[in-house]
Amino acid sequence: MPQLIDGKKISAEIKDELKEKVRKLKEDGVSVCLAVIQVGNDPASSIYVNNKKKACAYVGIESLAYELPEETTQKELVALIEKLNADSKVNGILVQLPLPGHINADAIIRTISPDKDVDGFHPESVGRLCIGEEGFVSCTPAGVIQLLKRSGIEIEGKECVVIGRSNIVGKPMSILLLRENGTVTVTHSRTRNLRETAKRADILVAALGKPKFITRDYVKDGAVVIDVGMHRNTENKLCGDVDFEDVKDKVSAITPVPGGVGPMTIAMLMYNCVRAATK
Ligand code: NAP
Repeated sequence: MPQLIDGKKISAEIKDELKEKVRKLKEDGVSVCLAVIQVGNDPASSIYVNNKKKACAYVGIESLAYELPEETTQKELVALIEKLNADSKVNGILVQLPLPGHINADAIIRTISPDKDVDGFHPESVGRLCIGEEGFVSCTPAGVIQLLKRSGIEIEGKECVVIGRSNIVGKPMSILLLRENGTVTVTHSRTRNLRETAKRADILVAALGKPKFITRDYVKDGAVVIDVGMHRNTENKLCGDVDFEDVKDKVSAITPVPGGVGPMTIAMLMYNCVRAATK
């Protein structure tokens, strides 16, 4: 059996460390507050928002919930974000995506002050990441780095292949691996010979959004496989982009779905909120 990289355990560790930090901050008179905005009532978004509120309560972060109707205009949403930008009590602002089609998500992301951009999606945060400056990092890829480090898996000098180049996962993932001195290849839907490229990887990160796409013929013997994918199958069970059963006896370590990368995203959001309050 390969090493199972336990995202539930590692995310719980991170939240406990943050809880202690928040307790100490409170003793020094510093509180941490996250504003969470949801527009409309997409059921999946409501679950994510609820989980974020629960994590805030656990860590000791105050959460302010703004549940806006589907018909909210872009102008109204911008006005709310500008009000929260100016509110010194609010340390972090999160707008749950996706937004309804009549709202321009890019413009909304740019409205959030880079100092409160706890999702790490603002162009300034992305730019800082690229040039190696301190800043907020997108939570899911930041969580992957924590999973690797806290599982004792070295990144430096390793062949890292990232499958997917989205702004929220693939691109920041590749920059973070590069920052850890990995030798990084980024692949996407136009990559030729994906199998051969993926097979070079000592660390393979699958973030392509295709259920069970990565089978054993994409994986080198002894590779570390990180599965970012998240899908529900016909029986409503969660699965990833990797066919876990097919690859498990070929790899040295792997993240399960559920219980791998998923829980890390919220833990890193909590990390970013605490950072926003202390920087
Ligand atoms: P996305 O925006 O759809 O991006 C998918 C990327 O994969 C694109 O860059 C696309 O290439 C590439 N791709 C698609 N099909 C491919 C193929 N056959 N071969 C190679 N590359 C291919 O998805 P995302 O937002 O990055 O999310 C990826 C997965 O992670 C999804 O399953 C999502 O649910 C999951 N996710 C999980 C978490 C978590 O907390 N665990 C957080 C975020 C996302 P092109 O650029 O060429 O189109």
